[in-house]
Amino acid sequence: MAERILMSLPDVTQSEEDAVVAAIRSGWIVPLGPDVDAFEAELAARVGVGHGVALSSGTAALHLGLLTLGVKPGDVVVTSTMTFAATTNAVMYTGAEPFFVDADETSGNMDPALLRQALVQLRDERATVSAIVPVDLLGKTVDYTSILAIAEEFGVPVLSDAAESLGATHRGKAAGSFGRVSAVSFNGNKVMTTSGGGMLLTDDGELAQRVRYLATQARQPVAHYEHIDVGYNYRMSNLLAALGRAQLVRLDSMLARRREMRELYKSTFADVAGAEVFGGADDAEDNAWLTSILVDRDVAGWDVTDLSAALTADDIESRPLWKPMHRQPVFAKFRGVFNGASERLFARGLTLPSGSALTAEQRARVFDSIGRFLGAH
Ligand SMILES: *Cc1c(COP(=O)(O)O)cnc(C)c1O
Repeated sequence: MAERILMSLPDVTQSEEDAVVAAIRSGWIVPLGPDVDAFEAELAARVGVGHGVALSSGTAALHLGLLTLGVKPGDVVVTSTMTFAATTNAVMYTGAEPFFVDADETSGNMDPALLRQALVQLRDERATVSAIVPVDLLGKTVDYTSILAIAEEFGVPVLSDAAESLGATHRGKAAGSFGRVSAVSFNGNKVMTTSGGGMLLTDDGELAQRVRYLATQARQPVAHYEHIDVGYNYRMSNLLAALGRAQLVRLDSMLARRREMRELYKSTFADVAGAEVFGGADDAEDNAWLTSILVDRDVAGWDVTDLSAALTADDIESRPLWKPMHRQPVFAKFRGVFNGASERLFARGLTLPSGSALTAEQRARVFDSIGRFLGAH
């Protein structure tokens, strides 16, 4: 049997291997080092912000972003319910209470009207809302034009969770450049990887300095290890930064490969009644990290679970969209404003293999399998 096809695997070539070997030979086998500095400068330039701080994960970037915005125990952080758990976990680390906002059904992203409703409700309760954390779902940015205007009206800073959206844009401006601070991820399944890692991006130099300090155990600049804050060991290692720099050189070609997959899925499902590519009507600014389809069983006569079973039988991975946070046992006790959109997307959505490393044969296997399924239904 051929090997299993996964949704999104690392896309690593000889140039990444050479970069890591060169970093080892340079002797900088430590957190920090010249590749960390260069990677920060290169990614910040690519996104168009003043500062980048390379960290051990995107989750670490979210956590330190929240802390440096002043989020503290007892505060409220307003965030998307339609996301991966890392976003809410980072809020939990600060001791603040997450307050969920449901989605706009066409994009799955935070619905601006519901955000306003949430902020009005929390203002009436005299809650301390210390941050808004919208999430760019599957690589499509939230409507920052609306979200940032509402945030400003209520005087609340925005931390953008751009873990999935590196390479995407909103009205031509790069994901990772919105709000006071953004977090991106280089986990193994994202558009580019350092095997594990993340970066905090911001135009605020003081905030970036504070994050660097907290990420390296909060050492005071004296020889005898003086500490006045609780610190974290969250810095990226120099070897992984070398890998990241080599990935960044290839980012545009990797994004082009993902967009090809998106187009192939769009043509495959174009004439299939009751099925559509999620967010597919407006994806010029999307990075096409993952492509999902939405299926209406009453029209299609089949369900996402039927297609998923057929793919599994052919050793091809597929998964539902993120299960909304307010439906997760661990977070179900937290409040929010809900319109049912995230639950409908969870019920109707299926994410399909989307990685840039898929070979021509693997792509053919995926589309043969889907073609056979559609032919039989
Ligand atoms: C991947 C991801 C993260 C976390 O990034 P890590 O680098 O894996 O810690 C955070 N938020 C979202 C929406 C993600 O998809």
